[in-house]
Amino acid sequence: MRITFLGAAEMVTGSCYLLEFEKSKILVDCGMFQGGNEAVELNQKQFAFDPSEISHLILTHAHIDHTGRVPQLAKLGFKGKIICTKPTHELCKIMLPDSAFIQEMETEWQNRKRLRAGKKPIEPFYTVADAQESLKFFEAFPYDTMISINNQLSIRFRDAGHILGSAIVEMWVTEGSDSFKIVFSGDLGNKGAAILKDPTLIEEADYVIVESTYGNRFHKDTKYKALALLEIINDTIERNGNVVIPSFAVERTQEILYELNTLKEAKTSKLKSVPVYVDSPLAIHATKIFQSFQEYMDDETLALVQSGDNPFEFANLIFTETADESKAINFTKESSIIISASGMCDAGRIKHHLKHNLWREDSSVVFVGYQAKGTLGRRILDGEKTVKIFGEEINIKCKIFSIEGFSGHADQKGLMEWLGSFKNKPTKVFLVHGEEEALSTFSELIHQELGYENEIARLGQTIELTTGSQIQVVAERYTTQKQTVLSSLEVIKNGFNNTFDRLQKHIQENDSVKLDMLRYMLEKIDDTLQDMEKEIKK
Ligand SMILES: [Zn+2]
Repeated sequence: MRITFLGAAEMVTGSCYLLEFEKSKILVDCGMFQGGNEAVELNQKQFAFDPSEISHLILTHAHIDHTGRVPQLAKLGFKGKIICTKPTHELCKIMLPDSAFIQEMETEWQNRKRLRAGKKPIEPFYTVADAQESLKFFEAFPYDTMISINNQLSIRFRDAGHILGSAIVEMWVTEGSDSFKIVFSGDLGNKGAAILKDPTLIEEADYVIVESTYGNRFHKDTKYKALALLEIINDTIERNGNVVIPSFAVERTQEILYELNTLKEAKTSKLKSVPVYVDSPLAIHATKIFQSFQEYMDDETLALVQSGDNPFEFANLIFTETADESKAINFTKESSIIISASGMCDAGRIKHHLKHNLWREDSSVVFVGYQAKGTLGRRILDGEKTVKIFGEEINIKCKIFSIEGFSGHADQKGLMEWLGSFKNKPTKVFLVHGEEEALSTFSELIHQELGYENEIARLGQTIELTTGSQIQVVAERYTTQKQTVLSSLEVIKNGFNNTFDRLQKHIQENDSVKLDMLRYMLEKIDDTLQDMEKEIKK
């Protein structure tokens, strides 16, 4: 059997693995790449396989970086079965059309600009109709049940504790005289996190494909995350500002609501009472789905629900569904807590709330999830002084916080605990779903502490898996396309041009030129050169 790493390799988004058997081809995940121009390019690329030849697509969970290209797959000829858990199916019913709607809106916006510039219009990756069409291929299964895919492959979903319905996939392969077991970790959740059960520990595997998002980090504030949030909220309200929380619509939003509900219900509640807006239609629908899957919740949440305290309902909680209700939030004088999507700030209503609050010294933005490279969220978190939102340059003056304890991903300790639970050493572990530093630190640690042979999966790499230890690298499937190099150069060129323009403008507009400013500009040029070197190395 051959495995090709087509996404979430050397990066965190675009999860997609092609498994080629003698007589069939199967995919695990078909996610969207997220974060900047590079991601757009990767999403536009043809699939490295013929979608009509894929008999099954197995989904680990509903997040868009694991499912976002499903409608594209169906549009391009996929006619097979999409196998997932029931909550994943229910969440995909709302998330895929929502993703399509965003594609349509953004394409329309870009096309208006393109037409004005005399350029040809472009097509969205897929439409709402494509997304609806792709939903008819879904088949849902419960956790812990053997599912026979064909006579060479059986699988079983186990709870990954990452989002509702998220799964680790155990896979039993029989091919001629070969028979072995592969385990895909999917995204692994945090032990003890609110609402969900802990990730299932797996005892046996020959090959493990493990996520590495926080392979180099510890969540420092897990125990105190609610207190940290409380402090930020109360401080901000005292300053008469708003608390803006960019949050993934699924799971993170519900977890934040759960914590706010706990803070409100506490007998000695210190939480100042202001309106809490959940301003994301997707998050509103996802919250309803959460409420309908009580059997997937952990004992604590279940007990809470059964005692009559719905964690997703409390005084002053307002779900804003329509665009008008959403806009009205920005005109209220009173302080408020605004939870909105998308979690990495690249799309959706959160962009409006950032536009209205980033420049305000009295407001706070609180990140509660991973911000991938190149996303608007990452740039704000990395301390950029200004960002462009809807074509407008916005100064960042508000307070920026990040509470890592809310992350839906296990940290290094959690990942090591999960990997360390195999009774026998796996033949090989492949590291995916991480950025460079996380991957290399984690790889080293696995080797040192667990003695597992492991390797960082490379994008486009194909590897032959067999019984025992023979692993052959077959081919590097991708070569860098001319277009990718050209557009990287375009980004660098624009970076230079912007800096030079600003420098020129500054000199023209001022009678005397401050040396500081010149020095700053030279530093910018130096940064650009360094970025260029990075691009070239890539
Ligand atoms: Zn995920």
